[in-house]
Amino acid sequence: MKVFKSVKSLKHDLSFIDKKYSIGLVPTMGALHEGHLSIVKKGKKENDFVIVSIFVNPTQFDNEEDLKKYPVTLDKDLKLLQEINCDFVFIPRVDEMYNSSIVANNFNFQGLDKVMEGTHRKGHFEGVGTIVNKFFKIINPNKAYFGEKDFQQLQIIKKLVEIKNLPIQIVACKIFREKDGLAMSSRNARLTTQQRKAAPLIYNTLLKSKEFFYKKDIKYIKDFVEMEFKNDDLLQLEYFEIADIKTLKPVININESENYRAFIAAFSGTIRLIDNMALN
Ligand code: AMP
Repeated sequence: MKVFKSVKSLKHDLSFIDKKYSIGLVPTMGALHEGHLSIVKKGKKENDFVIVSIFVNPTQFDNEEDLKKYPVTLDKDLKLLQEINCDFVFIPRVDEMYNSSIVANNFNFQGLDKVMEGTHRKGHFEGVGTIVNKFFKIINPNKAYFGEKDFQQLQIIKKLVEIKNLPIQIVACKIFREKDGLAMSSRNARLTTQQRKAAPLIYNTLLKSKEFFYKKDIKYIKDFVEMEFKNDDLLQLEYFEIADIKTLKPVININESENYRAFIAAFSGTIRLIDNMALN
């Protein structure tokens, strides 16, 4: 496994890879868990080379505190990646990715960024779009892998590739969960024992909303979820939405020929957790 800490050194080595070989890119912010590793293994299987980037991207954080406290476990991450035979790891510095101006570019994601995470985390998707676009330009991968855990992000990256007309296949990867259903996340490491015990409520209410999907109307399901969180002292619901998977617009009336997902964002203390589930 080769570790690159500068764009120049990565580009230099990539220039020696013959075009007949395929490259899969797995962008991450580090503090790797089983969910990340399963994506890397998939990338490894489907390509001749897999590159994992580890970069805590400042422009996608709308909250200074969240950025400062984002877990960094670089030595452990490298060990885990080595164990699964990752080919390349790219760990650039912030100043190299952004030069002197740490700002995001503007994109027209055609409304996909105007709902859910987009309304609650101002500028988040512009930051994500900016950094992923930079990685795409540097690496030029054949395929890039994104988790359904961040389903809105996944749809936005697909849109980015479409509007920029990039020859990159975006591969969606299913959500990895702990035994009690909590979606794996780097932020879970910051939960106290009590908070960790309470956190599967997010998964359990998603499961319930799936059960209710064809039996009850949307208002009933939303009221139910809100009440479940009101009754819990350790989790504060930020939003619950049922949305069309293509437009991400909240659904009012169900059309049986469309596909829907339920989305939740909730705070456990200051730690923000998100999850989602396919409903049909
Ligand atoms: P992050 O390091 O949180 O930016 O995540 C890097 C990539 O891993 C993103 O595409 C995430 O959607 C994906 N990911 C994170 N957690 C999970 C999970 N529990 N299951 C599947 N994919 C995940």
